[in-house]
Amino acid sequence: MTGNTQPSQPILRPREAFKAPETDIAGLTPFAAASYFFDQAAERLELSEAVASVLRTPYREIRVQLPLLRDDNNTFLNFTGYRVHHNGARGPYKGGIRYHPEANEDEVRALAALMSWKTALVDIPFGGAKGGINCDPFQLTSGELRRLTRDFTRKIRPIIGPYRDIPAPDVGTNAQIMAWMMDEYGRSAGHSPGVVTGKPVDLGGSLGRNEATGRGVSVITKLACEDAGVRLKGARIVIQGFGNVGSFAAKFLHDMGAKIIAVSDVRGGILDSTGLDIAALQEHVADTGSVVEFIGSQEINNEDLLITSCDILIPAALGEVIRAHNVEAIDAKVVVEAANHPITPKADAILSERGVLVVPDILANAGGVTCSYFEWTQNIQQFRWSLERVREELDRTMIKAYEDVRVMAAKESVNQRLAAFMIAVERVSRASRLRSYGE
Ligand code: GLU
Repeated sequence: MTGNTQPSQPILRPREAFKAPETDIAGLTPFAAASYFFDQAAERLELSEAVASVLRTPYREIRVQLPLLRDDNNTFLNFTGYRVHHNGARGPYKGGIRYHPEANEDEVRALAALMSWKTALVDIPFGGAKGGINCDPFQLTSGELRRLTRDFTRKIRPIIGPYRDIPAPDVGTNAQIMAWMMDEYGRSAGHSPGVVTGKPVDLGGSLGRNEATGRGVSVITKLACEDAGVRLKGARIVIQGFGNVGSFAAKFLHDMGAKIIAVSDVRGGILDSTGLDIAALQEHVADTGSVVEFIGSQEINNEDLLITSCDILIPAALGEVIRAHNVEAIDAKVVVEAANHPITPKADAILSERGVLVVPDILANAGGVTCSYFEWTQNIQQFRWSLERVREELDRTMIKAYEDVRVMAAKESVNQRLAAFMIAVERVSRASRLRSYGE
């Protein structure tokens, strides 16, 4: 649904029964939060507790030791690596690997579950997985990162493969890290480009993969604006995070005529209520490594950025940034979750209650894994797609997923998150039932 369609639906409100949990971040771990949304859907779909528990919990988890001798040949570090397979009923496990000092078992588990729902929602033939290493990639040299990545790949080797589990980039990882993973895996398995996605184009990566998540966010934002009665042309947009996802979302939305009034990264934020020049900002970031001190902009910190008055707020950085303590101050008509789980369940219920349209992560940021599917397909067929084809298929997939969510939300009188979970959980549960739940 694009172009001249009338705003069809105002904000969709959850039923009264959809109550906020008592606890917020302090009492709810990321996996408990992901499970909370799952349970809402499972209840409405009337799944039995046994089936719900199969679908809620991960199928397999691996944790490995990753000792690293630094380049100085003296300092010795020891990291922990994780890979969680959540559900594989619909196809090989699929999901990114994050390098972040706070990466931990519970968060990786939550993110793996979100991948199962995300791949099902956009209807691509994958299950859900996630991985992580609790390192700070910005504190390691390129050689150290390479050795760490190769070691991790060797240690999770038995559970990955083009038809088993296909890692991809996530927070703190990139195409180079995928190249090292592919190379290490190929040492024993032979050339296997399909073992990872998000590779450099020179090694079988897909054209358009780099921009795909941000592009998907822009396609979904446009559709959400129609539903919320917000005119995208001239709309004021605030984006938290200017990494791969945030910067491409900013570019595409700017090209669509929206005004990006504030963006941020780990070093701080910038604000220009007349609208930032995104092309010039990208050059500034390429030169300086950060958005801060961009000419003509005002300084703003990450907390204030989130509560800046705007039409559309796009958290595109880390999880749990909108919680009970700041949700009341959020001043946006639409929130598009470009990051994974940026809103806690309690804050989510409050935003719904206030009539803010929240587009859930499993829909909003699914462009990345969708393009990963295209990359994997190209690797298996050994046939490269043009950028036009990638973009066309990506847009079509995202629009179809949004439509599915819109229809389900209207039919069940629920918000978009619950609608998205209901569609995804139903699909995974059907596939699982056909496989007799792996019994
Ligand atoms: N890390 C991305 C996500 O959270 C992409 C995963 C993938 O392409 O497998 O969706």
